[in-house]
Amino acid sequence: MSTDTAPAPQSFEFQAEIKQLLDIVIHSLYTEKEIFIRELVSNASDASEKLRHLQLTEKNIHDADRPLEITVTTDEKAKTLVIEDAGIGMTRDELAKNLGTIAHSGSKAFLKALGEGGQKNSNLIGQFGVGFYAAFMAAKSVEVFSKSWQPDAPAYVWRSEGTGNYTLEPAPEYTTRGTKIVLQLKDDAEDFAKKHRVEDILKKYSAFVSFPIKLDGDHVNTVTALWLRSKNEITDEEYTAFYKFQAHAYDEPRLRLHFTADAPLQIASLLFVPKENPEKFGMQRAEPAVSLYCRKVLIDSRPKDLLPEWLRFMKGVVDSEDLPLNISRETMQDKALLEKIGKTVTSRFLKFLADEAKARPETYDAFYAEFGVFLKEGAALDWTHKDGLVKLLRYESTFTEAGKTTSLADYVTRLKEGQSEIYYLSGPSRAAIEAGPYLEGMKARGLEVLFCVEAVDEYVMNNVREFDGKKLVAADSPDAKLPDAPKPPAADGDLSEDQVKTLAEWLKTTLGDRVTEVKASDRLVDSPALAINADRFMTPQMRRMMMAMKKDEPEAPVKVSLELNPRHAVIKRLAATREANPERATMVAEQILDNALIAAGLFEDPSKMVARLYKLLEQL
Ligand code: ADP
Ligand code: MG
Repeated sequence: MSTDTAPAPQSFEFQAEIKQLLDIVIHSLYTEKEIFIRELVSNASDASEKLRHLQLTEKNIHDADRPLEITVTTDEKAKTLVIEDAGIGMTRDELAKNLGTIAHSGSKAFLKALGEGGQKNSNLIGQFGVGFYAAFMAAKSVEVFSKSWQPDAPAYVWRSEGTGNYTLEPAPEYTTRGTKIVLQLKDDAEDFAKKHRVEDILKKYSAFVSFPIKLDGDHVNTVTALWLRSKNEITDEEYTAFYKFQAHAYDEPRLRLHFTADAPLQIASLLFVPKENPEKFGMQRAEPAVSLYCRKVLIDSRPKDLLPEWLRFMKGVVDSEDLPLNISRETMQDKALLEKIGKTVTSRFLKFLADEAKARPETYDAFYAEFGVFLKEGAALDWTHKDGLVKLLRYESTFTEAGKTTSLADYVTRLKEGQSEIYYLSGPSRAAIEAGPYLEGMKARGLEVLFCVEAVDEYVMNNVREFDGKKLVAADSPDAKLPDAPKPPAADGDLSEDQVKTLAEWLKTTLGDRVTEVKASDRLVDSPALAINADRFMTPQMRRMMMAMKKDEPEAPVKVSLELNPRHAVIKRLAATREANPERATMVAEQILDNALIAAGLFEDPSKMVARLYKLLEQL
């Protein structure tokens, strides 16, 4: 080995997670080892696409004229397979970082699934894709020669046998830009050195790679832009294969929309909704992933300003002939154009969802159960598409069976005469809301109430504000303008108006600062009292959040307005006891308020209540 310029190879240890991953990959009995070719070709394609993109902005690129091809070479005698690209390449540091530490989201998800008890299931490899490391399923050693696009970066070779470590060494003999991966195949993987075998695999997995793939000199893929072909020529299998390739996905798409538009802009688009909401477990935020093309040329694989934030779960492609190739987000003109394209695509998608909801309600409901949270976010924040989004919202209501939902439009068809508002109640679950006192008055009036049981719902309702000219109003808010309730028949011992007034005044004095107001209510039928949160913006959820945020500072005590049901036996008894036994009446008054706070989700400190209850119980 020479000498002054080339120092000896340096050896490095893999990150612990990578070691674990490699151990599994090498010892796995996973039968479809062939997917390593898919992974390596997809990396070659990514690197080529990155270079194509770089060409738009960088003048100084090493080997600028080298064509963006992927070449695959088999050698049966030597038992090797070589995959080479002319992509962006990697510097020494990039080799170490990209191939020595875990950055790959698929590998991360794979390890996580294993952690959750998937050890036995070698299928997981195929499901998640372990990226580059899949190479070690078939190879006993892997060499990665790479020369970065940056003109002054020297070439390096990364070598490993997939055990604990890898080496890095300068590779001055590798002078072309890009990456060459040399796999020395294992004895039981010699098949992958056979041309026809590799050809089958490339056709199966890499049909959509948008760069020519040459296998031992022969061109094996026809570069297709599926989105530009006519719908009725494309099979479901092709669509799914494209989705998996384009979105780097391992699931089947839940919905797809393929359309073209001519006005106001030339657009061809193929969009997919994945099976599952990637943010479901609160683990990570989805990144925008609808790629932007101009006549089949990728402009940006993750354009940030194309689609609104709430569509970040969507996958697919938008191609517009009207785009300049060197589009820049900085120029106002380009920004406006992007926005216009995004707006057209978003409107089409919303219309598609509305049609879907009509034609295939069950499919739509299943979509909504998984992705409704994004629609809610959009309805609350995206003023451009708010109307379309609000129509897509679905809620359970007092008029639907548990598990069934209604749209706001359907709610409106059921408005009672004189009803000018749409009512909702928030709570942790339908059952919890049903058990509270707030529905009584609504039921007595025959008014429908939507159940808001998700954390975002209250926020959504506050932002959406109205639908079809009807205000959205919390049924437990001081703003609710309820129509008159049918009067219950008079009964013996009913309190007179004066008696109710005196009782309310006494309660206000007795409860002091804890209440802003005490009055008779017509919202109640079966409960003696209810509390209306005086600060309508400080909802119970909001309060809990504030308290969690500033743990040491006590939040100001809750203030509520207390509404009484004068026909309720407890209230009647209280009116009678007030004079006869003021001490006991005071305890009862406080207990009634606490009970109302519990029902409102606003009760915070039980210590006093327990002592008081025992005192009351003593008087049995
Ligand atoms: P992923 O492709 O999902 O990021 P991989 O494990 O397949 O994960 O690859 C890890 C990283 O290594 C890639 O993100 C990329 O930065 C780098 N890489 C792999 N192959 C190549 C290549 N042929 N050219 C340039 N960079 C590559
Ligand atoms: Mg990859």
